[in-house]
Amino acid sequence: MKEKIQHLIEEVRLVSISTAEDLEQFRIHFQGRKGILNGLFEEFKTVANEQKKETGKILNDLKTVIQEKIDLFLLESEPNNEKPVSDLDLTRPVNYMEPGPRHPLSIVRNQIIEIFSRIGYTVAEDREIEDDWHNFTALNFPEEHPARDMQDTFFIEKNPDIALRTHTSSVQIRTMEKNKPPIRSIFPGRVFRNEVVSARAHCIFHQVEGLYVDKDVSFRDLKQTLLYFAKEMFGESTQIRLRPSYFPFTEPSGEMDVSCNICGGKGCNICKYSGWVEILGCGMVDPAVLENCNIDSEIYTGFAFGMGIERITMLKYQIKDLRLFFENDLRFLNQFKGVI
Ligand SMILES: [Zn+2]
Repeated sequence: MKEKIQHLIEEVRLVSISTAEDLEQFRIHFQGRKGILNGLFEEFKTVANEQKKETGKILNDLKTVIQEKIDLFLLESEPNNEKPVSDLDLTRPVNYMEPGPRHPLSIVRNQIIEIFSRIGYTVAEDREIEDDWHNFTALNFPEEHPARDMQDTFFIEKNPDIALRTHTSSVQIRTMEKNKPPIRSIFPGRVFRNEVVSARAHCIFHQVEGLYVDKDVSFRDLKQTLLYFAKEMFGESTQIRLRPSYFPFTEPSGEMDVSCNICGGKGCNICKYSGWVEILGCGMVDPAVLENCNIDSEIYTGFAFGMGIERITMLKYQIKDLRLFFENDLRFLNQFKGVI
C-alpha cells in the first residue's frame, strides 16, 4: 500500500490543472465520495498495526499534496493574483499625542468668568478691529484730547479712523447700544497698544471688563462686587483698598489694590514692600457715556471695572516676565499641566 500511495503522490505532483473543469475532475477523482482518498482510508483500516504509523504518515502526505494543488490553482486563477497592498500594520506602536495643558491666560480668564457668572454676569465679546466712535469718542475721549495718548494703538485706516481696539470698553458701548438696562455683563478679550515690549508691557494683552447698569446702582455696589471678586480669586483673607484715579469714561474713578497674597501684607518684592498690589481700575460710568448710548442718565446709573488678565495671572502664579505668555515655550507652558 505504501508504494501505491508513493506513486499517487508522484502522479498528483505531475498533474496540471489549467481550467475550472480540470479542477472539478481532479477533485472528484481524489476527494470525491468514491474517490481515491476515501478508498485509501478504507484500505488503511486493514493495514497491520505495526505498519499503521508509517502508512498513515504518507497517506496524510498525499492528502496534503492534493489540497496544495487545489489551493495553488485557486490562488493563481484569482482575477488579481497580486496580494492586496495594505499599510495596515497592527504591530506598529500607536501615534501617541499627549494633550497640551491649558494656557495660563485661558485658565485665569475662565476663572474670572466663572466668578462673575455666579453673581449673574453674562459674557459678551465683539470685534478686535474697532471704529473711533466705539473705542474712543463714545467713551469720552474727544479728538485731540491728551487722554488718547495714554492709549496709542495700531491704525488700519485714518479718516474715518479704524484701529485695533485699545480696551474691551468698546464692547461695553456696543452692549449698551443694543440692550436696555438692566445690563450686567463682563467682556473678556484681546486688546492692543503701541508699547515697547518689555518684561512688564506688551503690544498685545488681554482684559476682562465688567459693567452693571440699572436704577440705583451705587459706588457701594461696586465696592462689594470687587471685594467678592478679590476673595474668590485670591483667597478668603484678601482685603481690598480703593485709591482715587482718573479715566475719561468713569466719574468718580478708582484703582483697586488687593492685599499681597505672597507675603500676606507684610511686604515682599512682589508688592514692593507695601503689602498691596494694584489689580484693576474702576468707577461709576460717566453720565455722558450713558447718554452716548441712549441710556437716560437721570434714571440709570452704573459702574464699570477693567483688569488685565496677564496682571492677575502673574500675581497668582508669581510669573515675573510678561513676554513668557506669548513665546509658546513648552518649558513654561508645561508647568500648567493639570491646572483647570
Ligand atoms: Zn508682598
